[in-house]
Amino acid sequence: MSTSSLPRAPHHDVAPSDETALTSAKPESNDLVLEVKDFSVDYGWGERAVRAVRNVDLDVHRSQVLGIAGESGSGKSTLVYAVTRLLRSPAVITGGDARLFLEADKDIGSDARTLDLLGASERELRSIRWSQVSIVLQSALNALNPVLRISAEFDEVLRTHRRDMNRHQRRARAVELLELVGLNEDRLARFPHELSGGQRQRIMIALALALDPQLVIMDEPTTALDVVTQREIIGELRDLRARFGFAMIFITHDLALLVEIADEIAVMYAGTIVERAPAASLHDAPRHPYTLGLLNSSPPLHGEHRELVGIPGSPPDLAQSLVGCSFRARCPYALERCAREAPPLVGIEDGGRMVACWLHDGSPTNLPEPLRRKASPTARDDLAPRAAKEVRS
Ligand code: SF4
Repeated sequence: MSTSSLPRAPHHDVAPSDETALTSAKPESNDLVLEVKDFSVDYGWGERAVRAVRNVDLDVHRSQVLGIAGESGSGKSTLVYAVTRLLRSPAVITGGDARLFLEADKDIGSDARTLDLLGASERELRSIRWSQVSIVLQSALNALNPVLRISAEFDEVLRTHRRDMNRHQRRARAVELLELVGLNEDRLARFPHELSGGQRQRIMIALALALDPQLVIMDEPTTALDVVTQREIIGELRDLRARFGFAMIFITHDLALLVEIADEIAVMYAGTIVERAPAASLHDAPRHPYTLGLLNSSPPLHGEHRELVGIPGSPPDLAQSLVGCSFRARCPYALERCAREAPPLVGIEDGGRMVACWLHDGSPTNLPEPLRRKASPTARDDLAPRAAKEVRS
């Protein structure tokens, strides 16, 4: 995992390395793991800067799986890598806050419980990577060192963070972790290129769980895999989450896949969140035209196979200043107002749904029919086995 830091815009102070960003502040909600407020990231400086993430609020709770969906370039990976300070220049955090609330029973060499991620020193960031927050990247082949056997990858992570473990204990822990993801001990002696794509990705998941982190970030972890292996890994992740209770941020462009694993989904477009809702509600009854477009362009989870319809047009140029709704040029329901004013993300309906769209002016009868559907009482747990069964049949 890279440990390079993301520079912040000049108007933010960066904590000197001998100061601490750890405090004893408590989260407003006891089960909050990560809180991100009004967070913005640019690539580059000045007039030519690309506004990749704009004023995003996000929170993740213990044991929750938060899915982040959107097309390439929507800002979903930039947001998460910036929050965890893993992006390189020319990315610049131009505003906002990000706080990690630490588990009480983890030894981080301090009694502090809150880490201001944007003010944290490299030492503080190193202490929480792997142990509190770990990341599984899209391409395991690139993430694993091609000249190291798998045993050495596990040994390095455990040796760095668990000085109390001897060589035999580290080996035993590696075997235990491989078993968790359904792999035999003999894989430890292999090099990455001797394993299948699914096996490599399972090894990345096992490495991510090596130190019992409270938050695991999955960045398109199954994108490079065939559809059957994808579904198997999603099922294994669901089981692991239920067993160990870690929270997860799962990033993907595949909204249908996300519904199988996420409790809640945030849909990003042009650097902002345009809809956030419980996963099953969002799947059954999207309220933002972009969410509807994403669902119409994904194979259905169950029922009849239908023709897929892509979203016409392209996302806006984020180096230009945006006026009005950023989805306007592609939206079949655009109103005159959409050209002038950007819709805010506001709560609608019960059940914690938020949407940024002027169509939701409080009058449901004004909504186009596809955005008026009722969410069925179907729980995500009912959807997933059907989806897996369809894939395997
Ligand atoms: Fe479409 Fe207007 Fe809603 Fe934007 S605000 S998604 S342009 S209807």
